[in-house]
Amino acid sequence: MSYTVVWFRRDLRIADHAPLAHAAQQGPVLCLYVLEPSLRAQPDAAQQHYLFLQESLRDLARALRALGADLQLAIGEVPEVLARLHAAAPFHTLASHEETGNGHTFERDKTVARWCLASSVVWREWPQHGVVRRLPTRDVWHASWQAHMHAPQVPTPARIEGRLLPWPTERWPAGSRFGLAEDAPPQRPHGGRSEALTVLHAFLDERSRQYRGGISSPLGAPTACSRLSPYLALGCLGMREVVQATRARIGALSGPDDGRQRQGLAAFLSRLHWHCHFIQKLESEPELEFRNLHRGYDGLRETEWNEDHFAALTAGRTGWPMVDACVAMLRETGWLNFRMRAMLVSVAAYPLWLHWRPVGLWLARQFIDYEPGIHWSQMQMQSGTTGINTTRIYNPIKQARDHDPQRRFVRHWLPAMRRVPDAWLFEPWRMPADVQARCGVRVGEDIPAPRVDLKAATRAAKARVHALRAQAEVREAKAAIVEKHGSRLRRPAARKPGAAAAARQRELDF
Ligand SMILES: Cc1cc2nc3c(=O)[nH]c(=O)nc-3n(C[C@H](O)[C@H](O)[C@H](O)COP(=O)(O)OP(=O)(O)OC[C@H]3O[C@@H](n4cnc5c(N)ncnc54)[C@H](O)[C@@H]3O)c2cc1C
Repeated sequence: MSYTVVWFRRDLRIADHAPLAHAAQQGPVLCLYVLEPSLRAQPDAAQQHYLFLQESLRDLARALRALGADLQLAIGEVPEVLARLHAAAPFHTLASHEETGNGHTFERDKTVARWCLASSVVWREWPQHGVVRRLPTRDVWHASWQAHMHAPQVPTPARIEGRLLPWPTERWPAGSRFGLAEDAPPQRPHGGRSEALTVLHAFLDERSRQYRGGISSPLGAPTACSRLSPYLALGCLGMREVVQATRARIGALSGPDDGRQRQGLAAFLSRLHWHCHFIQKLESEPELEFRNLHRGYDGLRETEWNEDHFAALTAGRTGWPMVDACVAMLRETGWLNFRMRAMLVSVAAYPLWLHWRPVGLWLARQFIDYEPGIHWSQMQMQSGTTGINTTRIYNPIKQARDHDPQRRFVRHWLPAMRRVPDAWLFEPWRMPADVQARCGVRVGEDIPAPRVDLKAATRAAKARVHALRAQAEVREAKAAIVEKHGSRLRRPAARKPGAAAAARQRELDF
């Protein structure tokens, strides 16, 4: 008897899983995960993602077993695995969620689609999150997101008639087989739906009290933020179930002291919306992973790559303590809050004048929650190449003063800085020689000196971006980008020409 192949990708759960539910209704199901050597060898892949994936698959396998199916692991390229499987045990349908991944998965999906067509296999795909494939216009996007998030979740099948691969399944190989480095952040979160549910409920019940006002400082953010991003990136949790659980929690808050938590959860909900809003950009324009969203910015940084600046940034040795402390935290935990990510990219893009693509690849490997749609849109936004966002430049000294007033963050992550007196901690290069001698920390020897003058380099960078932005053809090309990618939320009635476009522009500046 023929059967359906459910191809798990970044949807590693059984709850609210339309492809699985649909397949289980049709008859026997082969639950497949394909470990693709070529995907693991991409420059955005890292050992921490691989370990997190392994943990998540282990949890998924347990959940499927309880329903009567064994998760089948195949190692190889997807079109070849499917062809081999079909030759040995023909199947009629391939069922999966849509994936908005990197350029590599985009090309692979096109090959899979061609193979299905040639082999008379139906490939049915269901939307994942609130991202819309072949979106005709952004005007309908928000309504579509709301409809998806309000729709009932797909029930989990009570039982699955599981099929096995017609060859022995392989054991999970070490990441080194695919060229992944051995090391991963020692304090990274662990994968799997069970872990994800614990994190979700701890956030909704308790930690969300700190969300409002707590998410900008890298000290408070690790507990104030939800920490759900890696679980959303691999689909251990579905976006709809997180949205609905959050709405239910907001609905249950009725006490006089609940106001702050309610506001925090409302702000969290809007970020869940941003999640899909950003991924939609990549879905609608896959090239933004590789090219400036606004082509008028081509050539701005491309030919001025400075390998020494990049090496200092990635080693956490820029000489700006707040930046270097963030790199140290990232290396240890695989996570940083939004504000500090934006600061890192801003420092890379402006005073260090580094192109976003290599910096983005490095950060993709550092972030346990790497999600191409959010990541590349944000990399470009914080580097000023979208052409539609106000230039946001984060000064690392101001960020340190605002978000580490007690100097605990920098001292925690940079042990070499512990003996630097408070007055000099955020700008140690200004320490007079006698202070350096007294505290035993010599700039340029014990700690790095900044590679450029922050103020002058930032001013020069900003001037170059603004000069380009002021050119008529660059200004004119902006409208089409806003039309294609701009948020339509809260658009006011246009009282005078251009008001709506201007309002939309503001909404993109998170
Ligand atoms: C340069 C840069 C790169 C980034 N790369 C990624 C990435 O690869 N993966 C990723 O998930 N997030 C990325 N972000 C967005 C944001 O920093 C993280 O989503 C957030 O820090 C994750 O922690 P959390 O789940 O506790 O967030 P919370 O504040 O609890 O937010 C809940 C969820 O909302 C979504 N979200 C939050 N902030 C944003 C945002 N600004 N844009 C879009 N969605 C958002 C995420 O899915 C997040 O899990 C990036 C931001 C910047 C500036």
